[in-house]
Order: sequence, then structure tokens, then C-alpha cells
Amino acid sequence: MSLTNLPDRSELPAISSQFDGADPLDILRWAVDTYGTCLTMATAFGVEGCVLMDMLSRLGSDARQVHIFNLDTGYQFKETLELREKIQARYGFQIELISAKESREQMEARFGGPIYGSQPDECCRIRKVVPLKETLEGYGAWLSAIRRDQTKTRANHDLIQWDNKYDLAKISPLGNWTREDVWSYVRTHNVDYNPLHDQGYPSIGCQPCTRPVQEGENERAGRWSGTAKTECGLHFQI
Ligand code: SF4
Repeated sequence: MSLTNLPDRSELPAISSQFDGADPLDILRWAVDTYGTCLTMATAFGVEGCVLMDMLSRLGSDARQVHIFNLDTGYQFKETLELREKIQARYGFQIELISAKESREQMEARFGGPIYGSQPDECCRIRKVVPLKETLEGYGAWLSAIRRDQTKTRANHDLIQWDNKYDLAKISPLGNWTREDVWSYVRTHNVDYNPLHDQGYPSIGCQPCTRPVQEGENERAGRWSGTAKTECGLHFQI
């Protein structure tokens, strides 16, 4: 893995503009061709991540070298971990499980119990943000599955941008897609997805911090429901 000859951060806005309205597969192909083994992808196995992995599987052997990982917080749904097995078997990918240095049990012992209810930002920092930061070190770009229409916070996200938080490029091939576009792709290509999506969970995170949503609610309304928290801090400062 060599970080030389990669686009300079100052070039990314122009590159991103060129891809406005582009097919996500073309953005993904550019990412694989440009960053090669310096490209990594974090996935929580949401439906968008499943779509991106299906697209990667269509791009040939170079795309199979992309490092894919899941932040295994210790609080994920069993359905999420089962989906990882299914996707690995289907596409032949290895999806690395990345855990915090401190196990869930050690952390709960240190705080005298779980802290997702009392200190969710600290819990996310320990179990997600710090491991993500450590994992991204040494890579030139990471793939994210976020869509601009998910929340107001995500609306201004560029398809390709410099990620100041982690100091590498961030590429969001599905940035311009709607939820309907994603599900249309799933149906067309018979993409495997988390069965919880069919049980009222449009967005799936850790089990204690995710509830099903009601008709008419925002698709992320079930995340940290009843609190002001809307993001785990992976994509934005919290
Ligand atoms: S989503 Fe909830 S359980 Fe998961 S790391 Fe964040 S606060 Fe902890």
C-alpha cells in the first residue's frame, strides 16, 4: 500500500463536481482505480452498505482487494452479524471485525454498567470512533454508504471530499441516491439485506440504541430515540 500519487486534497472538490449525477458504480470504479489497496470501507451492514458491496463484487479482482471492515461494538444485533457471514459467503469477501481495545465487559465493569443510556456519546467514542480512527490510519480513502437525503446533517456532504476528522479522502458513491433508488437496486440484483429492515427498522445500529420506526417518521428516528443524539460521530463531530 503506497500513499504516493493519490489525488491531493485540493483536487477533490473538482473531482467530486465531475461526478455529480454520475452512476454510483462509476464513482466506485474511479475509487478502486485511483486508490487501489489504499481504499477501505466501513460497513454496519445497512442496506446501503450491502448495495455498495454488491457493486464492488461487480468491479472485478481489483475491487476484491478493498479492505472492508465492521466496527463490532459488542452491542450489534445477531441479525447483523449473521448477515456478515452471508455476504462473505456470497461474494468471497473477508469482512474484518474491528473491536475496541477494551471489551464490552471491561468497559461496563469500569463504568459500573452499560453507558449507552447515560453517556451514549462516550460509548460511541470508545466503541466506534476511536477504533475507526485507528483502522483508517495509513489508508488514502474510505468508502461511506451515506446518502444526502437521510438527514439535514448529511445534506451537504460531497460525493468525494477530504475528511478532516480522519485525514484521508472520503467517498460516498450513493450520496445522490434516494432510499427508493437503493431498494430498487436491491430488488433488481437480489441483494442480501438485514431482515430487520422488514420489521420496521429502516436504519440499524446497535441493539440498545435502535428501535423500529412508525409510519411517517424519519428513517433515522429509531436511532438513539428519545435523546438529542442523531449521529454516532463516525461521520460528524458529536
Ligand atoms: S450506538 Fe449505542 S451501544 Fe452502540 S456504541 Fe453508540 S451508544 Fe454504544
